[in-house]
Amino acid sequence: MTDYLFPISGANHIGVSSYFVNLSGVRILLDAGAKKGISEVYPDYSSLVYEGHVNSLDELDAIVLSHAHFDHIGSLLYIAEQAKNAVIIASKTTKDLIRMQLVDFGRCINSYDDEKIRKEKLKRMEAILARIEEVSVMQPILCHGIKITLYPAGHMAGATMTFMEGKEQTVLYTGDFSMDTILDMNRPKFYGLHTDILILNGTNAYRYKVQNHFNYKELDKKVQSMLKKGQNVLLKSTSIAKHLDLFYALKLMKMDT
Ligand SMILES: [Zn+2]
Repeated sequence: MTDYLFPISGANHIGVSSYFVNLSGVRILLDAGAKKGISEVYPDYSSLVYEGHVNSLDELDAIVLSHAHFDHIGSLLYIAEQAKNAVIIASKTTKDLIRMQLVDFGRCINSYDDEKIRKEKLKRMEAILARIEEVSVMQPILCHGIKITLYPAGHMAGATMTFMEGKEQTVLYTGDFSMDTILDMNRPKFYGLHTDILILNGTNAYRYKVQNHFNYKELDKKVQSMLKKGQNVLLKSTSIAKHLDLFYALKLMKMDT
């Protein structure tokens, strides 16, 4: 049996999520996070080599991205360039939001990068984005002989759980998930999942009540009534993660921004 899990970082650090799974000999990376601070922290990908899981990072077969929060995609540029033979998989919404995070908000560049380096990094990021295969939820795909199905995971727009069926075992990686979502979009769905191994991200579970606290339907009502009165509305969010939620809510509420 070759199946095993090697948590590169997610189990030890908040904000640098990445797990390595060897399933029937196929080498899969689940998420590629980073943490922004004074210096940017990445998962220790070199441990895959020095602990003997791969001879070099270009032996990785697939990278599956569960959702577009920075702690799950922030090191994508770095690892995808090294894992040049890996198929990269995500839902369409996650791919769109990764572009927003890393290109439009410029989070794949650093404040001290000069103009030339910024341009070069954005160009390289575009090449990585072009490699991401959009996978529809609940539609299995075959990846190096492994059947992979993405399931809606709540949490944020586009977030998915990853169900992988190997020759001997099945694995469910939840990524961040929640039972409750903004305006009911992307609600979790499960159909007849029988998993042998469960890799669970429970980072947001404790925030269930807090998340419920912000009511986008009330926001919609309030904004619509102000617009009817001919007033202008300025919506301000204080974190990029919340910008993503807000943009998606505005799209669902069909507001012009
Ligand atoms: Zn998240």
